[in-house]
Parts: sequence; structure tokens; C-alpha cells
Amino acid sequence: MKIIMLGAPGAGKGTQADRIAQEQNIPHISTGDLFRANVGGGTELGMRAKEYMDRGALVPDELTVEMLFDRVAAEDCRDGYVLDGFPRTIPQAEVLKKELEKRGDRVDLAINVDVPDENIVRRMGGRRACPKCGATYHIEHIPPKQEGICDKCGAELIIRDDDKPETVQKRLSVYHEQTQPLIEFYEKEGILRTVDGTKDMEQVFSDIKALFA
Ligand code: ADP
Ligand code: ADP
Ligand code: ZN
Repeated sequence: MKIIMLGAPGAGKGTQADRIAQEQNIPHISTGDLFRANVGGGTELGMRAKEYMDRGALVPDELTVEMLFDRVAAEDCRDGYVLDGFPRTIPQAEVLKKELEKRGDRVDLAINVDVPDENIVRRMGGRRACPKCGATYHIEHIPPKQEGICDKCGAELIIRDDDKPETVQKRLSVYHEQTQPLIEFYEKEGILRTVDGTKDMEQVFSDIKALFA
């Protein structure tokens, strides 16, 4: 099963992708996490990506596409994957479609996690991320068992550089301009399903599971 998560920054794509990945036993691939790993590791790709990420802009398609295809070529992706944060532009969606078509393959499902802008700003303010394993928490809605510490790996949680209010506004406008058109793209492909992302995490996940039934 090849699944795409669509939605504004902070809509809960990563949170749900993680659950889907466990349930379906496929890898969760987040281009944001891949970029952050490169930034943390000081790679050339990381250095180039950072200047865009810090401004709340998208990293250019060429860099993003190459990194993504490297990752999905790995053995663990053979039976499918859930993509979180890719595609984010129409050209990215077109490249993905073309590459899959070459192998007689296609995306099975595009899940749009729908959350209005006013909720987003609140969500991002409370987001805490694990720099080591990529797990995500929310100080009010999804707190870790021990404040400031990752449940999964014990690392100290951080606030992402790009979760500052000014950058969040910029990312939202980038989302509306460049990413939202993908909703229509996948609607035309006949594989778009929308869930109400304002519900609590468990409810959203059960709405998503109903899509697989
Ligand atoms: P969010 O939590 O906002 O959905 P991500 O962790 O997915 O954020 O992405 C963080 C940043 O990484 C983005 O603001 C962008 O700069 C970069 N990025 C991630 N995925 C892509 C992509 N598919 N195309 C271009 N840039 C991307
Ligand atoms: P995205 O990957 O779309 O950027 P995340 O999964 O990182 O979004 O979620 C953004 C923030 O909102 C995180 O702090 C996360 O813990 C929290 N969150 C995720 N889903 C929900 C939900 N259904 N209700 C409330 N908060 C949520
Ligand atoms: Zn962790």
C-alpha cells in the first residue's frame, strides 16, 4: 500500500502517519525528518536545505525529489510506504506519478487531514519534537509521560526552529499557494479521502482506519 498524507503544516500528518505505518507494517517516510537529519548531520544537502527551512519556504523540488527517491528505493519500501510531507508541489506529484507508472505502480490513497488555519497556529505553538527519533508531542493534547523527555527513546524534546509564530504564518501561506492544489490533483486521480483533523488523535486515527476497510 502506498499512501500520501496531505494537510497544512501541523495538521497532524506525522502523528497519523506514524500510526498508519505501525498498523500497516510499512515505513513512515517524512521528508521533513529526512531534511532535519541532514541538517543535524551537517551534510551538504542539509546545509542547502536549512536556508529554505529556516525561512518557512520549500526546499527546491530537485533536491527534495532526489532525496525522496533515494529513500523509497530501499528494501523496506518494497511493500509500500506512507509519505508524510511529500509531495508538496504539483511538480513533485507529477514526478512521483511518472516514476511509479514506469514500474506499473501507483499511489493507492491520498489522505487529506483537514484542519483550519486558526487551529494550526495553536497546535504548532505546543509542538515538541524528538531530535533523535522524530516522535512528536503536544504540551497540552499529546504530552509525553515525563515532561520534556521522549517516551520512545528518552532524548530531550525540542521546539523546532521553524515553529516560531512568524515562520508558522509563512509556512501556512506557502501551504495554501503550493500544496493545497494537490487536493484537486488527487481528487482527479480518484484517490483522495478527507478526514476531519480537528478531532482528537484517536478519533482521527479511527476515521483513517475506516478508509482501509
Ligand atoms: P510540517 O510539520 O510543517 O508539515 P515538515 O517537517 O514536513 O513540516 O517540513 C519542514 C520543512 O522541510 C518545510 O517547511 C520545508 O522547508 C521542508 N520540506 C519538507 N518536505 C518538503 C517537500 N516535499 N518539498 C519541499 N520542502 C520540503
Ligand atoms: P504535521 O506532521 O502535519 O506537521 P504533527 O503530527 O507534527 O503535524 O502535529 C502537529 C502538532 O499537533 C503536534 O504537537 C502534535 O502532537 C499535535 N497533534 C497532532 N494530532 C493532533 C490532534 N488530533 N489533536 C490535537 N493535537 C494534535
Ligand atoms: Zn525520541
